[in-house]
Amino acid sequence: MKAVRLEATGKLALREVEQPEPDIGELLVRVDACGICGTDRHLFLGEFPSKPPVTLGHEFTGIIERVGEGVSGFRAGMRVTGDPNIACGHCPECQRGRVNLCHNLQAIGIHRDGGFAEYVCIPQQQAFELPSALDPLHGAFCEPLACCIHGVDLAEIRTGSSVVVLGGGVIGLLVVQLARLAGATNVVLLTRSEEKRALAEKLGATASADPSTADIVARLTAADGMLPGGADVVIECAGVAETIEQSASLARRGGTVVILGVMPQGVKVAIEPFDLLFREIKLLSSFINPFTHQRAADLVASGIIKVEPLISRRIGLAEAVEAISNPARKGEIRALVMPSID
Ligand code: NAP
Repeated sequence: MKAVRLEATGKLALREVEQPEPDIGELLVRVDACGICGTDRHLFLGEFPSKPPVTLGHEFTGIIERVGEGVSGFRAGMRVTGDPNIACGHCPECQRGRVNLCHNLQAIGIHRDGGFAEYVCIPQQQAFELPSALDPLHGAFCEPLACCIHGVDLAEIRTGSSVVVLGGGVIGLLVVQLARLAGATNVVLLTRSEEKRALAEKLGATASADPSTADIVARLTAADGMLPGGADVVIECAGVAETIEQSASLARRGGTVVILGVMPQGVKVAIEPFDLLFREIKLLSSFINPFTHQRAADLVASGIIKVEPLISRRIGLAEAVEAISNPARKGEIRALVMPSID
């Protein structure tokens, strides 16, 4: 079968490899779609640790082709989404129920072969069933959605809350939808692209603005601004210094800031502890998807979360090599790799 292999930092290639065999307790999944995430580009550039040679792709969905010995509850023909993050279950953090902080965390598509391939093998506990009638591509959004659910859980959005979301990529646009579902009345999306702002408003944002304009904090938080006094919750989904630095100043006194965006290791940003303390801002960070993949699968299956507008292009495995090796195209939200495309 064909697979997109990371052979070393900066060396990505489409290769012919053996079709994997499901081990005891594993499922062999024929991949329908796998999203290209910023992390795949970081892995290619060596900015995120991985274990080459490895097939990349951690946002996959497909149909079970065959089940290994000892599998129960799954059978060939079922549509599934995979949670790529495998916790060990016995380290101190797993024992405390903090599986996303597992000391021995292994990820499908990072440490073991993933979904930019015709087939992927996954342990059955990482699989979640999706309705057979679901659009075959939509399950590829379960993984990013599961990460957003964790962030929104941490933010403790309440009915009537006001929320600012920074960043209009997949993560920001999913968080906007989750914030509305959680009961937020005002959800303001800040992103530079006009198209993404327009899309955010279609998906439920009550307003949007460009965060790079000089008076943005005043436009939001001033007495006559969009959210006088600031937002109850600010969720950073861009992963850039400017927006991380902006986040606290957009929160009201006693408000909560959740950082979902990932910045390169070692990079520092300017934060004013006095301001955090004086206004008692809760500054939280949210890492991956502890126990949220089932909820993501249910939300995608229900159609309540709109994912179709987030698909910018559909490409085959050969084109995926070029797409992962380069920055995302201007305006692109999510490129989906479909092994069925030649
Ligand atoms: P993305 O598609 O790159 O979206 C980021 C958005 O941020 C872009 O659309 C961009 O929109 C905006 N942006 C970039 N620079 C900006 C700036 N200087 N000021 C304002 N906005 C700026 O990425 P994504 O897939 O949505 O992911 C977002 C972040 O979440 C990434 O850092 C990713 O690594 C991280 N992430 C975290 C987790 C987790 O578990 N915590 C899980 C998945 C992803 P404009 O060009 O319109 O401004």
